[in-house]
Amino acid sequence: MIPRNTQWLLRSLVVCFAAAGPASALDHVVFEHEGHRRQVDGRIVVEAKDGGLLLMARDGVLWTVPPEENISRTSDDEPFVPLTHQELAVRLLGELPPGFTSHQTVHYLVLHNSSRTYARWCGALFERLYMAFSNYWKRKGFALPEPEFPLVAVVFADRASYERFAQSELGQAAGSILGYYNLQTNRMTMCDLTGVSAATPGQRIRSAAWINEILSRPESLMMVATIVHEATHQIAYNRGMHARFGDCPLWFSEGLAVYFESPDLSSDKGWRGIGEVNHMRLARFAQYSRRRPGNSLATLISKDDRFRNSATAMDAYAEAWALTYFLIRKRSGDYLKYLTQISQKKPFVWDSPETRLNEFQAVFGDLEELDREFLRYMQRVR
Ligand SMILES: [Zn+2]
Repeated sequence: MIPRNTQWLLRSLVVCFAAAGPASALDHVVFEHEGHRRQVDGRIVVEAKDGGLLLMARDGVLWTVPPEENISRTSDDEPFVPLTHQELAVRLLGELPPGFTSHQTVHYLVLHNSSRTYARWCGALFERLYMAFSNYWKRKGFALPEPEFPLVAVVFADRASYERFAQSELGQAAGSILGYYNLQTNRMTMCDLTGVSAATPGQRIRSAAWINEILSRPESLMMVATIVHEATHQIAYNRGMHARFGDCPLWFSEGLAVYFESPDLSSDKGWRGIGEVNHMRLARFAQYSRRRPGNSLATLISKDDRFRNSATAMDAYAEAWALTYFLIRKRSGDYLKYLTQISQKKPFVWDSPETRLNEFQAVFGDLEELDREFLRYMQRVR
């Protein structure tokens, strides 16, 4: 789940923007933010004709600066260098509530006030997903660039403090969402799924195996799937599969996340195998198929509305999983071609429904024919 207001904010502020200047300089921008004066050093990604800016900070946060809030801007010849793990940890610990500490892995920075064992468990889960994701696409012939920034996860010990924090980014939805990736801050936020850090503060959690045991229970698997789903979004956005400020159809980004989301904590690798049948999504798709309208593929591909409406979202996610499963299995070369096109989308160019449909059909062929092939294939999937 990516907070909707973030996408809306980015989308709404930049329609009239033109491309920014050379990327090598470091820009120093002073602006008003929520009543405070703030200086951000970073890289201007997009510059509006009216003076508005989209700024990538050295900690990976994307700032939208409307012209009326833009106080001053200077730049020098210093290269843009992202903050290191350590620098980022110092900065974020200063921003988070008291009591947080950091745990670092090769690609991740886990900031937590949960038990250290749980933070380590999260870091290890993310690293396994990162490796599985890399290997999967490498075998398919799609080379992923390394992420520019450390990948950040903020882990709260308990549900209540997580919800308080998440409310500022998700609004009321925070109460029903266990974790999310924020496109603007580039961070994941979640809580200790075992609930143990909160129930027995200060108690030493015995081992990662014990956490696996708790979270392998059938009632917990959905929660872990949510975290893996969000971590997949973060990896995909940070490893060049889609741009954080480009137009990526939701069927594509969500389809990818649900394709990777099924964890298996009884396995050393953490997954039964990437791309195995996602039984929960398959069951939902089978149910949806009985009342699926003839233009279902067209509405899924051309617009994001079905994902945004809570009445249709579950069916849309199920269909996005099914379509991704079918295309990767049966039309792998075309899927890679389409993936490459999506990854090269220019910042802040929002495609019309017609453009989306045309681009899709240019790669995969006539939609009606594809739909028949798709449904035939999915009927056999067990
Ligand atoms: Zn998602």
